[in-house]
Amino acid sequence: MGSVSHIFDAVRRDGRKNLLEPEAKEVCRAYEIPVTDFRVAKEEAEAIKAAGDIGYPVVLKIVSPDVIHKSDVGAVVLNLKTAHEVGEAYRRILSNVVKVQPNARMLGVLVQEMAPASTEVIVGAIKDQQFGPSIMFGLGGILVEVLEDVAFRVAPVTMLEAEAMITEIKAYPVLKGYRNQPKLDTAAIAEVIVKTSKLVMDHQDIKELDLNPVMVYEDGVKTVDARIILE
Ligand code: ADP
Ligand code: MG
Repeated sequence: MGSVSHIFDAVRRDGRKNLLEPEAKEVCRAYEIPVTDFRVAKEEAEAIKAAGDIGYPVVLKIVSPDVIHKSDVGAVVLNLKTAHEVGEAYRRILSNVVKVQPNARMLGVLVQEMAPASTEVIVGAIKDQQFGPSIMFGLGGILVEVLEDVAFRVAPVTMLEAEAMITEIKAYPVLKGYRNQPKLDTAAIAEVIVKTSKLVMDHQDIKELDLNPVMVYEDGVKTVDARIILE
């Protein structure tokens, strides 16, 4: 596992506490948490080049320390299939952000692999005042947010504990498979939980972490959005 301290140091030197999505995904990669392939582009032509290198379809998103919920401001465009669509999305994202947050710093546009749609889960971590780093797991989506159907453990979380977190949520049948829905790769989710636990144990200056969402497949998982906030 590569060191990630240099990423945190650079963020602090920049006077920030929030990692940008590409920074957070680089941290994930160092801990072998699967993330979508990505490049940061600073010009439209660069974005088109990146899309060709990554392979279509791709997703474009704003890279800005001032935009926390990217889709809320029209700064996430999914499923782009051609260079023409990438160019259009590039311009649309910049103009959407300028409209909603005229003062937002725009550091570029993130071009990333489009992960096939699937069941979405959330793996999170917070630094609890009393218990220290703690890990959260739940399904993605509004229903689960409303029902608060989540599992918590104080880190470090073992593989066995991670598996228990997955089976104890009410929505577990969705992952286990039902009727003609296939069983999804819960072992791969458990691995993400354990690696996230290792990450926040190694770096106690992480205040909050969100892998939201992680796409879960019959074989494997992929994190499509990652957020890390330092103390
Ligand atoms: P936000 O900052 O609004 O949370 P996200 O990066 O999570 O932005 O994107 C919003 C939604 O778009 C995600 O919840 C997911 O459903 C979808 N999405 C984002 N990135 C990808 C991707 N690379 N592949 C497939 N779907 C994606
Ligand atoms: Mg998200």
